[in-house]
Amino acid sequence: MARYTEASCRLCRREDMKLYLKGDKCYSNKCTMEKRAFAPGQHGQRRTKLSEYGIQLREKQKAKRIYGIMEKQFRKYFEMAAKKQGITGDNLLQLLELRLDNVVYRLGLAASRKEARQLVLHGHYSVNGKKVNIPSYQVSEGDLVQVVEKSRKSDKFKAIVESTSSKVTPKWLEADFEKLEGKVIALPARDDIDLNIEDHLIVELYSR
Ligand code: SF4
Repeated sequence: MARYTEASCRLCRREDMKLYLKGDKCYSNKCTMEKRAFAPGQHGQRRTKLSEYGIQLREKQKAKRIYGIMEKQFRKYFEMAAKKQGITGDNLLQLLELRLDNVVYRLGLAASRKEARQLVLHGHYSVNGKKVNIPSYQVSEGDLVQVVEKSRKSDKFKAIVESTSSKVTPKWLEADFEKLEGKVIALPARDDIDLNIEDHLIVELYSR
């Protein structure tokens, strides 16, 4: 499966914002964006004025990088979003938020989306009692996501919960750190998604 291989912090510098790709480091003063908040490369500190297309493209790249999704799959999400009733940009973000790897991350059962993807692939979570190892699996309202029984006592999950339990759980989810599980109590509305993404620019880009 194709994945981003460029160093995570470079991606944040390219997008000129924190994308929270590395777990704990992102919330500390060791975050690269605290020290080098300019684009990577020889001309990174030059200011360049982007065209309308360039602005739309950057917005799409930002969203793809936050969720760790490659172009082909991202376009599929857009097509699904466009077919659904409602506002396409809102639908797009909702579909992305409901990926299992994202839900696991949002519940604090993984420190970053990247880690969530790895742990999902290795079969550490179940949905409604059934093990699921597909990061893109779409979670639904009412679903119960759990760390599987055999992984619950591992040091890995103790360390994850120690670092994530103080973070705020989005209101569409309910986390239980004692039981290492969480429930999707509602579908995420646009206002529930705390990402600085101008989704209308992505819609405009794909509608060209
Ligand atoms: Fe981005 Fe996290 Fe690296 Fe900071 S530490 S630059 S937020 S990936």
